[in-house]
Amino acid sequence: MLRFGKRKKQVPDGLFVKCDGCGTLVYRKNVEALLQVCPECNYHFRIGAWDRVRLHTDEGSFEEIDRSLASCDPLEFVAAKAYKDQLKKYAETTGLTEAIICGTCRIEERPAVFAAMDFRFSGGSMGSVVGEKLTRAIELATEKDLPLVTVAASGGARMQESALSLMQMAKTCAALNRLDKAGGPYISVVTHMTTGGVTASWASMGDVIIAEPGAMIGFTGRRVMEQTIKQELPPEFQTAEFQLEHGFLDMIVERKEIKPTVARLIDYLT
Ligand SMILES: [Zn+2]
Repeated sequence: MLRFGKRKKQVPDGLFVKCDGCGTLVYRKNVEALLQVCPECNYHFRIGAWDRVRLHTDEGSFEEIDRSLASCDPLEFVAAKAYKDQLKKYAETTGLTEAIICGTCRIEERPAVFAAMDFRFSGGSMGSVVGEKLTRAIELATEKDLPLVTVAASGGARMQESALSLMQMAKTCAALNRLDKAGGPYISVVTHMTTGGVTASWASMGDVIIAEPGAMIGFTGRRVMEQTIKQELPPEFQTAEFQLEHGFLDMIVERKEIKPTVARLIDYLT
């Protein structure tokens, strides 16, 4: 039985790793061999954006676009910490310039536009740069008549950018609407966890929406929801399995099957 509570950010270094799903100490090499999945309970560890590139695209085929775009703190936002300093720290710890990587690639020989988020960068929050990079990727897919594949992992809108962040929801959805009208297929993969303004915009706009097993997908967290509706929610609430049952998702696909599944879907949709 998967546990859907707290997850460690990444598989830590060391010979063994404690699985957050079943609590077992598992041999790290075995977890890695299974693409960061627990051999005991099938728990899918969180992985970064470049891991997603390696997982989803043909080796050496990914060509990144708009790498140099980075947030410029337009509101000069300071809370407990200055936003500017936080951005610097995320860039240092992740080696990324923002919470999303976009580019062109091949997926089992099929040319595509691919975008993947990284939860380690500011909780995968969508600020103006994430929205802009994604919109450019969508526009590239429209222009070049290529299928679009995205992988979401996000806490939602980036509060430090206020309304500029919220605007990205409309901007990305408008671009997806143009892609749709041009006939471009869009496959959205949602991973643990995808919430807030990302769930409420582009991640839910796919012609096909796929989730990883056990992923938490929702808008607002359980506590806020329970307080609002004054009802206790079921334990499996907002899990991928729950969302599939309630028609929010089309499929749940294990990590090892994701690439051939997406390739097949591209064939069906084009
Ligand atoms: Zn496990």
